[in-house]
Amino acid sequence: MSRSAGGAADLLRTAQEVFGYEALRPGQEEAMRAVLAGRDVLAVMPTGAGKSAVYQVPALLLEGPVVVVSPLIALQRDQVDAIVGGGTGRGGAVMLNSAMTASAWEEARGELRSGAARFVFLAPEQLARDEVLTELAALEPRLLVVDEAHCVSSWGHDFRPQYLRLGSARAKLGRPPVVALTATASPQVRSEVLTQLDAPDALVLVEGFDRPEIDLRIRHCSDAATQRQGVLDAVAAAGGPALVYVATRADAEEIAAQVPGADFYHAGRKRAEREDVQRRFLEGDLDVVVATTAFGMGIDKPDVRAVVHATVPDSPDSYYQEIGRAARDGDPAVATLFYRPEDLGLRTFFASGVAKVEPLRETAAALRVHDGPVDPAQFRRDLGVSATRLAGMLNLLAEVGALAEDEEGNLVVPADAPRPGPAAEAAVEVSQQQRSVERSRLEMMRSLCETTSCRRQFLLGYFGEQLADPCGNCDRCRAGTAHDRVATDEPYAVGSTVEHPEWGSGQVMHYEEDRVTVLFSEVGYRTLALDVVARNDLLESA
Ligand code: ADP
Ligand code: ZN
Repeated sequence: MSRSAGGAADLLRTAQEVFGYEALRPGQEEAMRAVLAGRDVLAVMPTGAGKSAVYQVPALLLEGPVVVVSPLIALQRDQVDAIVGGGTGRGGAVMLNSAMTASAWEEARGELRSGAARFVFLAPEQLARDEVLTELAALEPRLLVVDEAHCVSSWGHDFRPQYLRLGSARAKLGRPPVVALTATASPQVRSEVLTQLDAPDALVLVEGFDRPEIDLRIRHCSDAATQRQGVLDAVAAAGGPALVYVATRADAEEIAAQVPGADFYHAGRKRAEREDVQRRFLEGDLDVVVATTAFGMGIDKPDVRAVVHATVPDSPDSYYQEIGRAARDGDPAVATLFYRPEDLGLRTFFASGVAKVEPLRETAAALRVHDGPVDPAQFRRDLGVSATRLAGMLNLLAEVGALAEDEEGNLVVPADAPRPGPAAEAAVEVSQQQRSVERSRLEMMRSLCETTSCRRQFLLGYFGEQLADPCGNCDRCRAGTAHDRVATDEPYAVGSTVEHPEWGSGQVMHYEEDRVTVLFSEVGYRTLALDVVARNDLLESA
């Protein structure tokens, strides 16, 4: 039997015998085989899809300790219990935290050496400690697992500066293969993860983001009146609870006043009122909420039948997240977006600006005035800036290595930090890059609105998940303009890394007709005509 076939059979057997799973879920097997073969893997799957199994099952077939970095202690505890509960005697796990005594660590190390324990879980703060990494390196870890890998991205609300140390931590551990796991579908986050982990050639698997029960419709509107009327009609036709997303607070209030039985939600409302809207919607006492993007975080209402976009969202990322609040029960729902190209211009106008050098330099300098670690709350009071503004600056400074967080969450200046001046300039550059990527995401939103191909193929393609055939449940499919993609060559594999002379290194996202879309880490998305690429030798496989 060939080695790879044997691998697959062993994986299934282990999943069955140790974990009690009957079969492997889509994507799991491919990811597990890659892990088994020693390849770096980034698995992007929604919550509940079974990401843990991706490393736990193959780990039991490999020799040597597996280091798992995870920001959630509670989650770690569950995972430890789950593995130890498997009861094979090969899955034992230990947790490494700062409260651990020397003798407890001594014992844990013994178990890891003997193989009685196979997994060692640690919080990201531990990555700040060289002695921890040295000890782990001595155990010659077989695999480094990074849970909640999106925390490495300063884009996300989950950003953890300690995750910026992952690349160097990996190097100190002897550069074991890495398995990164996240439920965040944003391709931007994904490319940052690969960069930070120094895993450009990782197998990137995106699976399980399709929501086939949501009917996707995008209506072009020639003027604002048609657009508004369309929104009102779509809500009236919803046949169940509906969410309307708008761009401004004023729009939220205005539309809510026009829809019988609707209320509005935006960050400018009193907290008690916001909570009341949310509660009534969840309990079924309110049928329609007209909201800015502030609404929806953590909303898990199973029977939302319609999501209506009164204007174009700022990115496919937002669009996907917002429509995803429909049809959690799996029954059909409709998502309708009312699109006017003019609205894209408004989005650009309201987008946040590039960070300024001077405040960044002052912040970096202020940090250096202190001898030791600085409490972030105190630092904010000293500087007298808003929490959001400071967080934005700290993230940028962390990204350029001008500050870090210690184990207690205090701010520290690393020994090799750049001086405030150069740090501020580098941070502005990062900020410029982020703006440029933001603009390119908006351009991708335009393409989604204007494509004649299957909307779902386009949307999933944006996230890196390939849908083989047109979906049959979008306006383009129904109109008959979506065709099976002509099997033109796909000269570069989806997910692979390419190099452009001007835009640098990027990841191939998807193909549409005779075009390829690449996500460049420095400039964002670019869609290129394949014949032009071929004629001018524009992309080189990395
Ligand atoms: P995630 O981390 O992606 O949110 P988990 O790894 O916690 O998901 O898995 C979610 C649930 O699915 C767990 O209860 C896990 O035991 C289960 N699970 C994972 N893979 C399989 C499978 N192949 N068959 C059945 N159940 C599975
Ligand atoms: Zn379709």
